Amino acid sequence: MKYKFDMEYFKNVAKVIFTTDSPSGYTLNAIKKVMEFINELGYSYKLTNKGNLIVEIEGTNNDKTVATSAHIDTLGLMVRSINSDGTLKLTNIGGPILPTLDGEYCRILTRVGTIYTGTILSTSPAAHVFKDASSKERNIDNLCVRIDEKVSNKTEVLNLGIQSGDFVFIDPKFEITPSGFIKSRFIDDKASVCLILTVLKYFKDNNIKPTYRTLVYFVVHEEVGHGAASIDPNISEFVTVDMGCVGLDLNGDEFKVSIAAKDSGGPYDYELTSKLITLAKENGIAYAVDIFPFYGSDVGAALRAGVDLKGALIGSGVAASHGMERTHLEGIENTMGLLLCYLLSK
Ligand SMILES: [Zn+2]
Repeated sequence: MKYKFDMEYFKNVAKVIFTTDSPSGYTLNAIKKVMEFINELGYSYKLTNKGNLIVEIEGTNNDKTVATSAHIDTLGLMVRSINSDGTLKLTNIGGPILPTLDGEYCRILTRVGTIYTGTILSTSPAAHVFKDASSKERNIDNLCVRIDEKVSNKTEVLNLGIQSGDFVFIDPKFEITPSGFIKSRFIDDKASVCLILTVLKYFKDNNIKPTYRTLVYFVVHEEVGHGAASIDPNISEFVTVDMGCVGLDLNGDEFKVSIAAKDSGGPYDYELTSKLITLAKENGIAYAVDIFPFYGSDVGAALRAGVDLKGALIGSGVAASHGMERTHLEGIENTMGLLLCYLLSK
């Protein structure tokens, strides 16, 4: 691939974005961080009522409007109720693989802004006490939060200011290894947020413009299904950047950009998807075309909302999605390359 992106910038942005909690419903802090990066790059933007951030970039030809997006909202947890033993009962936001949460550190945010630490545990957490410590199903009813405070009943927890509806942030455990792997929760879709910012920096660094007027959406309700439902009706093409699936018979991996031909919402636009495949081929970008079996995206949200556009989906392959995820900087670079080629294409 001929394009060289500022990967140090990507890594610096990633450190900030990955370590800012942003479950669906509590994304403003993360969006503010994105705004700071956008300000530094010198683009104009606006924030919608429901919290999406839109960056508008003038093209060399403004007769047509195209769009790209990534979602900064993530899976998460919320306090459902307080148990009589002073632990917290949970409800999940989106679909995390629940057994992977057993043993994770977390933070509880009260409505007045106090943060308490804790650990997500099974309700049979001790091997020396519970016969079913290993075998108990890790579903949402069998998980709880042990708060790191001297509490042993509901009243004491209420006195801390914790109540139903408080967000519980899961430790993302973000790391970039010397071998180039990104290990973290919520690579879906924070990696795409960071790679789009790096592509926007490429435009500025090289003093170039996209071919068409381009709207870049940083979306905040994708994991709950309606992220891009309120997208601008003037958009004719929408290439969303979200994670590629890895595993079983799929072709994608952590080093390639995946191009989705179909997900659970049906086939993506034939012409636009074919164009992306051709661009990848012509520009020496490592890619895989795949079917994503259990998957929905912001293109689906926009189409179901009635927007008349052609939609496609690309993204770096993410292993163990919705669990302890991993991807590689090579997959990120290939995704940046394909997004850039698309935005520069006619
Ligand atoms: Zn996603």
